[in-house]
Amino acid sequence: SIMPATLSAISNGAKHGILFKGGVHLENLSHLKAIAFDKTGTLTKGKPEVTNMIVADGLDRDEVLLKAASIESHSNHPLANAIVKYSKDTLGKELVHPESIEDVSGWGVKAHLENEDWKIGKADFVGRSAAEAFSGGAAVELAAEGKTIVFIERNGQLAGLIALKDVVREETKQAIDLLKSEGIYTVMLTGDSQNTGKAIAAESHVEGYIAECLPETKVQELKKLKEQYGQVAMVGDGINDAPALATANVGIAMGEGSDVALETADVVLMKNDLPKIAEAIDLSRRMNRIVK
Ligand code: ADP
Ligand code: MG
Repeated sequence: SIMPATLSAISNGAKHGILFKGGVHLENLSHLKAIAFDKTGTLTKGKPEVTNMIVADGLDRDEVLLKAASIESHSNHPLANAIVKYSKDTLGKELVHPESIEDVSGWGVKAHLENEDWKIGKADFVGRSAAEAFSGGAAVELAAEGKTIVFIERNGQLAGLIALKDVVREETKQAIDLLKSEGIYTVMLTGDSQNTGKAIAAESHVEGYIAECLPETKVQELKKLKEQYGQVAMVGDGINDAPALATANVGIAMGEGSDVALETADVVLMKNDLPKIAEAIDLSRRMNRIVK
């Protein structure tokens, strides 16, 4: 049967915007040694905006943008939505229709449009060496500003890049500093590039970061963290975070995250409120002192 102290801690959590799906999670939280965070939508707001676009010499920028946006309109990735919005806001032209489209999760989108082959996505998706050399290495500089770089390839040639910036939540630094002061190791897991990951990790104050993760890689990294630290939590918001949330000792979802993340998690932060994690740990430690 559930202990009165557990029950009172759960209802206390609910009053403060932290939903525990059972007493065992409070117990696990009190022993936490490390927390892994997803980047996009968790440490950041998850609403990227286009900041820069560069096209290869001799190409028509507006044409490349319109076609890239037309392809991205068939993806529901946050980067895709931002590119479509940017095209609508700056060109105001009707999108065109690709003959075929393939959304390659964790990498980008492939399409056939007006008899040409297009690929839009990360460096490895279009060929890393060409991506890094493009426009005098522009991607490296933009990524160092914490921007995410999306490359556009047309018939096997790089046609351009689009840089997007997603802002770190106002409360992220404070939330991470609180956890660090409790002796908890903090690390960010992201599908984004090394350079972008490094910049956002520094802005967020997390101690470590692992970039270029695929959803499977996030699971592998969590297993490693569990071996190294013992009790480990994962905080995420997306469908692609669900396997990692399930692998962690405590899965924590952002309240405005995807349904799959909310269902898989053990703890839900009702208002996306990251500083609540330190509060939840406090609550669990106090409860365990009462129970024992
Ligand atoms: P994260 O773990 O950071 O949320 P994802 O796993 O969703 O990232 O994607 C990893 C990377 O793949 C993105 O940073 C982006 O470079 C690329 N990518 C994925 N989908 C798209 C898309 N629809 N358009 C452009 N790039 C994409
Ligand atoms: Mg996310």
